[in-house]
Amino acid sequence: MDLDEYQRGALRTAASRDKRNELLHLVLGLAGEAGEVAEKFKKWVRDLDSDESRIDRPGIAKELGDVLWYVAVLADYLDLSLDDIATANLVKLAGRQSRGVLGGSGDDR
Ligand SMILES: [Mg+2]
Repeated sequence: MDLDEYQRGALRTAASRDKRNELLHLVLGLAGEAGEVAEKFKKWVRDLDSDESRIDRPGIAKELGDVLWYVAVLADYLDLSLDDIATANLVKLAGRQSRGVLGGSGDDR
């Protein structure tokens, strides 16, 4: 499955763009799902002494899927292709790597 195909699939379960406050719903949903990923790791640290053999991979995979859904639908709301976003990200990171600035800071380095 390519990312635009995924994005089209995600849209089948998304609300209409015309729904009141839909953009805000998507932004907050993305932040919330990212928080759910972090929560899984918080419990791993708190309860499992950060034992990597006991990471809840199935649970984290589900939450990462929720993050992906919100990324895909938010991107569509803004008329952005998920495939284009992914490609541009790889190009950006490869450029940083080739210039030796992967580990620095600043969005436009
Ligand atoms: Mg979730």
